[in-house]
Amino acid sequence: MTADERREELKAVLLEARDCTRCPQLAATRKTVVFGAGNADADLMFIGEAPGANEDEQGLPFVGQAGRLLDTLLGEIGLAREDVFIQNTLMCRPPANRDPQPSEIQNCSGYLLRKIELVRPRVICTLGNFATKLLRDDQTGISRLHGRPEQRRIGEYDVVLYPLFHPAAALYTPAMLDTLRADFGGIPALLAPPQAPAPEEAPADSADLAQLGLF
Ligand code: URA
Repeated sequence: MTADERREELKAVLLEARDCTRCPQLAATRKTVVFGAGNADADLMFIGEAPGANEDEQGLPFVGQAGRLLDTLLGEIGLAREDVFIQNTLMCRPPANRDPQPSEIQNCSGYLLRKIELVRPRVICTLGNFATKLLRDDQTGISRLHGRPEQRRIGEYDVVLYPLFHPAAALYTPAMLDTLRADFGGIPALLAPPQAPAPEEAPADSADLAQLGLF
């Protein structure tokens, strides 16, 4: 599949996801399905927990305080949002920001894996416990795993999985922020090999993509 074909397919998945009712409670209380956004052909993907109030309102991931911290940390390693793809374990906001339930994570996981398959990142940073446990299929917590890259097979693809603390947790705990920042410092080396950056190529239908929250 070419990058253009993958992007087209990603748009088709987005159109399907927009009306998802697999989790009846979430479908009834959400304002927007927060599909994920960024570079549809990114080498680096971030997977957070679930949309909060701001994300639900705007339809985009990580647009609140945690998102601003994520932007800052990305900037510090020379990256911007447009360089990466950001999605969440759940696409719908849990009421009152409660934890995602196992059945909801399960319901959403098909979409999540499909997005990984279509964006084909080489490195996936899971942010916090929910995404880390899901992608590792293991209950080991983030405190033990953060900052340690692992080679993993996800679906048909080999990726480097790099668990990180969730930025929201780091907002109010300076020591955790220091650790998150140090772990972020490890990302460029994971991205470095093997290919030189491809020349920027504007997608033919960039206006349409922008409307979908994809660059
Ligand atoms: N915003 C998101 O989109 N995801 C989170 O996990 C937290 C804030």
